Amino acid sequence: MAVPKKKTSKSKRNMRRSHHALKIPGYAECQNCGEQRRPHHVCGSCGFYNKREVVAQKPEIEEDADETSAE
Ligand SMILES: [Zn+2]
Repeated sequence: MAVPKKKTSKSKRNMRRSHHALKIPGYAECQNCGEQRRPHHVCGSCGFYNKREVVAQKPEIEEDADETSAE
């Protein structure tokens, strides 16, 4: 196995790590609901992409839960 001949100095180590910082991802405004979404991604709040609903949103099921539990 190849082994480094010399210990990497703090300077060289830190120079290598100077590119490791995380960047904040880009965001765009949804044209349907105005929520922040990732570019080229389906909107997480309304399911729209390219002004068209591609992910069906679940309807509110607050009253249905009461009907199934009462028997
Ligand atoms: Zn949206």
